[in-house]
Formats: sequence, C-alpha cells, structure tokens
Amino acid sequence: MTEPVKKAFKVRIYPTPDQQAQINKTIGCARWVYNHFLAWHVEVYKAEKRYMSYTECSAMLTQIKATPNTGWLAEVDKFALQNSLKDLDESYKNFFEGRAGYPKFKSKRGPKQSYQTNLTNNNIRIDVKHHRIKLPKVGWVEYAADGREIGNIINVTVSRTPSGKYSASILCQVKIKPLNVATGEVGIDMGLKKFAILSSDEVVENPQYYVKAQEKLTKLQRTYSKKKKGSKNREKARIKVARQHEKVVNQRRDFQHKVSKKLVDENKVISMEDLRIKNMVKNRKVAKAISDAGWGEFRRMVEYKATWYGRTVVIIDTFYPSSKLCGKCGTKNAMLTLSVREWQCPVCGTIHDRDINAARNILAEGKRILAS
Ligand SMILES: [Zn+2]
Repeated sequence: MTEPVKKAFKVRIYPTPDQQAQINKTIGCARWVYNHFLAWHVEVYKAEKRYMSYTECSAMLTQIKATPNTGWLAEVDKFALQNSLKDLDESYKNFFEGRAGYPKFKSKRGPKQSYQTNLTNNNIRIDVKHHRIKLPKVGWVEYAADGREIGNIINVTVSRTPSGKYSASILCQVKIKPLNVATGEVGIDMGLKKFAILSSDEVVENPQYYVKAQEKLTKLQRTYSKKKKGSKNREKARIKVARQHEKVVNQRRDFQHKVSKKLVDENKVISMEDLRIKNMVKNRKVAKAISDAGWGEFRRMVEYKATWYGRTVVIIDTFYPSSKLCGKCGTKNAMLTLSVREWQCPVCGTIHDRDINAARNILAEGKRILAS
C-alpha cells in the first residue's frame, strides 16, 4: 500500500516553566471558548429557537478577541480557539444526529486537558536533529525522540496529564512501508481471564494491569485523602495517584499495540466479535474487568493497523452464538452455560474447549461473510 495514510505519533515534550505557563493558558482559553459558546448556544436557542452555525460563532470569536476585557484570548494560539469551536460544532452534530448526548461543559479538572493546533504556513516545525518541535506562540520545545520517522504534519494536539506531564500527539500524512504478504486467517474470542483466545489455539493472557496496581493505588489514594486540603503535601500525594493511574493506562496501551501488531503481521483475515453486548454487562465487578481489558480500544487498534497494511477485519454480529455452536457439525448447544469450560457435542460427540471452539466459529463465520 503506497497511498499515504494519517498516523498519529505521540511524544513526550519537555516545555520550560514559561512554556508550560503558555500551554496551560492556551488549554484554559480553549476550554473557555468551548464553554462560553456552549452557554451562548443555549441562550440563542431559548430566544430564537435556532442553532448557530460554525461560521457565525467564528465571526463572534473574532469580535470577542478584539474586546478589551476578553483581549487575553488574543495572546494564545488562534488555531487552538478555532479548533475548540469546531469541536463544539462537532459535539452538536453528534447530538442532532443521535450519536451522543447534549454537549457538556468542559471541566478544569477533567483527565483530558488539551488543545489542538494546525499546520499553516510553516507555523509548526520539527527539528529532528535536536529533537525539538516548534509550536505556535510556545516556541521550540524539546521532545523525547524514539527513532520514528515523522511525516508531513497535519495537526498537533498538546496535552497535559493530571500528574503534570506534557505530550504532543502529531498527526501526520505518512507512507506506510508494506508488510510481507500474510497468509494466515484468525478468529479471536475476547475474554477476561484470558485476553484473547485465537482459532489457532494460541492464548493471549490478560496482564490485568489495573487489578495488579489496585493495592498500590488504594494505598496512595488513602495517603492523599488524609493530607490537609490545600496543602503542598496533598498536591504531592495527588500527583502520585495520578502517575500510578497513567502508568496503568500506558502499560495497557503498549500491550494492546503489541498484540494487535502481531495479529496484523501474521494474518490477512482477522475475524472478531462485535463486543457491544459483552460490554453492556451490568455487574460492576465484570464491567471493571472489561475496562481493564480495554476491548474497545483493542478493536480500534486492530482495525486501523489492518487498514494501513491492507488486511481484512470482519466483525461478527453480536447475536452470533459463537460459544454454543459445535464447530464440527454445527449443532447449537442451547443448554451451554457460562461456567462450562469443556463440553461434548450431543450429536457428533466432539469434545470442545469452550473458548477455542468459539474462536474457530468466529473465524468460520467471518469467512462465510467474506465469501457471500
Ligand atoms: Zn457436533
């Protein structure tokens, strides 16, 4: 595949204290614009029963920036503010088209604090030799180089984690080096105790990063809540909790990248279940385990990597009874309960490992769909 694709590179950046202040101010202004216009939308709708267009909001923003008491908006990257308006416009579109709830105000304390800037007239530059990136109104910021080749920049999202680390997610247009031709075909049964069971009998264990970090997290959380409100020690303890959370998230992401890359490397067809029903389990303990496994994010990774490398992903219907069908004769064993790990087909007598049988059925169903 020689067609260029969009690919995001996330790098840790190391802004100086002054640059940190400028980034924080930009994040704050971007949030202010979002919230201000959201409130405005509500007012205009109440008074005039209509929705303001992006163009209308953009013209208003220009006016606000020229008004003395909100003139501080002009001190930050203008693209950050425009992108905030675009974000809001997108949130409304998602709401009107039934994909999301009514837009919510952005909080200063949310885990995601960021702004996005776009490349126009060389305003963003990368100096690979000295591993630094130039951001509008911030200047040259050092980044942690990891040897990846960064392509033509489209936009950059600058973000700050709750523990105070900064990063830049650089969206680029890149040419993907094609992978070797793969001949494999695989069905994947996603699980909890085991992260994935493959139709090839291979088992990918679930590293359960969150579960493992739980004890430490609880301890850090307790230390934090005991500290006096507003004290320096409390802030220090808060950062420790946040760091631990971030560590778990990073570990999980690295793990999922490795597993998805391997699957895409080896297979030309990847068949997976649509996990929405599995995700809807009400039981809180199970829900927590599912979020620790991160199925949604994993599927997303498999899908975009497959697109890059020209592989095919088939998503099987939620209602396809992958565990209950005998992979040999097709008999449906409706009596099979969740606790039964091994069963014998009442018709043909084949003995099945529940999960491997399911993974094989998922592959068979995927191939059936592709053929039809
Ligand atoms: Zn059978």
